[in-house]
Amino acid sequence: MHPRFQTAFGELPATLQSALLPYIDAPDFPAMFKAEQVDAIKQRCGLDDDALAFALLPLAAACSLAPISRFYVGAIARGQSGNLYFGANMEFSGAPMQQTIHAEQCAVTHAWLRGEPALVSITVNYTPCGHCRQFMNELNSGAALKIRLPGREPATLGDYLPDAFGPKDLDIATLLMDRVDHGFQLTLTSELEKAALAAANQSHAPYSNAHSGVALEAEDGTIYTGRYAENAAFNPSLPPLQAALILMNVSGRDCQKVSRAVLAEPESAILTQWDATRATLAALGCQNVSRITF
Ligand SMILES: [Zn+2]
Repeated sequence: MHPRFQTAFGELPATLQSALLPYIDAPDFPAMFKAEQVDAIKQRCGLDDDALAFALLPLAAACSLAPISRFYVGAIARGQSGNLYFGANMEFSGAPMQQTIHAEQCAVTHAWLRGEPALVSITVNYTPCGHCRQFMNELNSGAALKIRLPGREPATLGDYLPDAFGPKDLDIATLLMDRVDHGFQLTLTSELEKAALAAANQSHAPYSNAHSGVALEAEDGTIYTGRYAENAAFNPSLPPLQAALILMNVSGRDCQKVSRAVLAEPESAILTQWDATRATLAALGCQNVSRITF
């Protein structure tokens, strides 16, 4: 079991521990459960979907990287597929506060990067901040997304964000998590560059059209990619580097051990991720960053 889970796992009820152990004990546990695993766990523990998501929150919060706040937030996103995805807040010492990732953003992006087409619910251990409510308002699940909080009545994003401003106010029809392929092509030989371009082709940037993707290479050569997730209110947009760091973190890897990174973005667009990507990676100890343009 990854050491980060040991304390939280030890505090779970014994029946849940034994139901989770076959999955969480695997060396490459991806901080998610597939639908059939969720069904098996629920059956063994007698928990329903909401109760299981609440019970898993301490494990999700164990993925938190919070050197600044020491405030550990966990989130569980349930996909339309029935899969469950962990999310946790991620802070980066040495980088501006704006580079921070919230737990809900982490869980949503985790699900999106693993191919989930839409979300049904988000369960979180603290009430979602305004930034996250706006971030989730970009999703293709819309106001119907269920929000579950310990000790609160079941509610929807529409309850948490009344009189919302969102993509439809700007005549945007393609929403976050909708499958897209922007079709950008380059002749590339490097697998890392190909991964960054593939991520850019699936990014959500309907306001700037500055589609971008980042690919990170870990020390053993494993590649983690992230796509830009733009927001109707602009500021809650999640940069592609953050998305890639989310996948690296939930996969149990150390975000301070990126050996190489590539950003793929348009040659000339109204905005660029280049300077922010380099600066945040430098704060994480990675100087080997390159950019490919299309
Ligand atoms: Zn938040």
